[in-house]
Amino acid sequence: MQRSFFRRSALLAQQTAAALEGPLAARSAPLLQRMDRSMSSVPIPPPACMLRPLEVPMRYLFGPGPSNVPPRILAAGSRPIIGHMHPEMYEIMNDIKRGIQYAFQTENNMTIAMSGSGHAAMECAVFNTVESGESVPVAINGIWGERVAEIAERMGANVHRMVKTPGGYFTNNEITQAIEKHKPVLFFLTHGESSAGLCHPIDGIGDICRKHNCLFLVDTVASLGAAPIFMDKQNIDIQYTGSQKALNAPPGTAPISFNDRACHKMFNRKTKPVSY
Ligand code: PMP
Repeated sequence: MQRSFFRRSALLAQQTAAALEGPLAARSAPLLQRMDRSMSSVPIPPPACMLRPLEVPMRYLFGPGPSNVPPRILAAGSRPIIGHMHPEMYEIMNDIKRGIQYAFQTENNMTIAMSGSGHAAMECAVFNTVESGESVPVAINGIWGERVAEIAERMGANVHRMVKTPGGYFTNNEITQAIEKHKPVLFFLTHGESSAGLCHPIDGIGDICRKHNCLFLVDTVASLGAAPIFMDKQNIDIQYTGSQKALNAPPGTAPISFNDRACHKMFNRKTKPVSY
């Protein structure tokens, strides 16, 4: 068994070497030699792709995201890893929080960089603030409103879809009418609807929500850093974004902020959130 693995590994190394040309072949040589000499007894040989260096081409990214990451940010990603309990880590996390507060233009204490994509932040916002059976009107003028409606429905919210053709926008009058009719706990709107190319006006909507004791949740995944938005000044109760769009960072982090009204709703729930 071990000998046959040996033979297979050697063959694989030879095949990989033969398939590679030029500088890639030179850079793969140490890995291939190591494989050839391998004394491992694992029955499944390493895949050929793991025996050559990772090649990532340079591409210009002109969509809403992911976007090109500047060298300064790429370099930050290559710093050493430290423990999550090291004092420097707390400092770094505080700095990140201050940076997000600045980017969101908020003083909210509950401001964090979640590990996850924009979708994780969407779920986090809805799952934490809404309980089963509560009323949630969702403005849908592209795919992101529809996605939030689905997320809220899956956790048992009473969703009211307000639908426009993709790229259409909602007047403050229409939003007032929906809120007066459905008496919701939360109203959702996408600021930068990337599927349709619309940047939705925000002014006045936070005041309407506040007047009717409803939280205002805004998706700024595709717009934060590209179009002006002022969380505190515009009375937005919950706001989230993604790292890989206008912020020009790698994907995998979702900044999110909750104000005191949103925290009060979260910490006075009657039931536990459906997701851990
Ligand atoms: N909301 C909007 C407006 C988006 O454009 C996107 C991503 N295209 C998302 C949410 C979801 O973000 P992610 O892909 O990081 O999960």
